[in-house]
This record gives sequence, C-alpha cells and structure tokens, in this order.
Amino acid sequence: MDCLFCAIIEGTIPSKKAYEDDKMLAFYDINPQAPVHILVIPKKHIASVDEVNSENSDIIAAIFEKIPEIAKTAGITNGYRVVSNCGDDACQTVKHLHFHILGGKPLAGEMA
Ligand code: AMP
Ligand code: ZN
Repeated sequence: MDCLFCAIIEGTIPSKKAYEDDKMLAFYDINPQAPVHILVIPKKHIASVDEVNSENSDIIAAIFEKIPEIAKTAGITNGYRVVSNCGDDACQTVKHLHFHILGGKPLAGEMA
C-alpha cells in the first residue's frame, strides 16, 4: 500500500518522534501551524475518522488516553487543540487517520 504515514511507521521515511508504543506513533508535523504541532497516528492503517468502528476503536481510545501526556511532554502548558480532518471538504491530504495536536500559542478562535 502506498501510504506516507505507513512508511513513517516503518521508518522508510524519517520523522521526529514525540512518542511511540505498540499501538501509536506521535511525530512532529513537517509544516507546523503552531509552535507545537504533533501528529498522532495509529500503527494500524485506518484511512480516516470515517473508518473508525467497534473493531478498531480501542486504538482510538488509547490515543486519546495518551494525548494529554504527549502534549505535556512537548511543553504545552496552556491548552491545545486536537483536530482530525476527514475527507475532501475538510482538506484531508494524508489518507491515514491522524490527530493534530496544536498548541504553544493562543489559537485562532474560529475553526472553519
Ligand atoms: P491533513 O491535511 O489533516 O491530512 O494533515 C496532514 C499533515 O501531514 C499536514 O499537516 C502535513 O504538514 C503533514 N505531513 C505531510 N508529510 C509529512 C512528513 N513527511 N512528516 C511530517 N508531517 C508531514
Ligand atoms: Zn497508512
């Protein structure tokens, strides 16, 4: 499968890791939109939020249980935003589920 984030998980494309365990990888976004911009992805290929179901939602729960620690370890102290773009209207560019963690400055009040 030709998937950029699967290649990052495999290590064939390098990344700056923020956290890793058996279920997930967190790494710094190559084009940061905030002082701290981390992507958290499941190691299992799931295309988007649209593909989350009862068979794989344990991974999503594990990711959300870990996000506060990832944000804190990255130095975020005053709040952050978690975003997942799903599909064309949301401008999802990489079809491997990912959660953006954005923080380190006051973020724009509007989300869309
Ligand atoms: P989205 O537009 O929600 O699909 O987000 C995809 C994100 O992946 C964007 O913020 C990109 O900057 C980021 N990205 C693309 N390629 C890489 C890469 N090689 N390493 C880290 N982040 C990347
Ligand atoms: Zn993938």
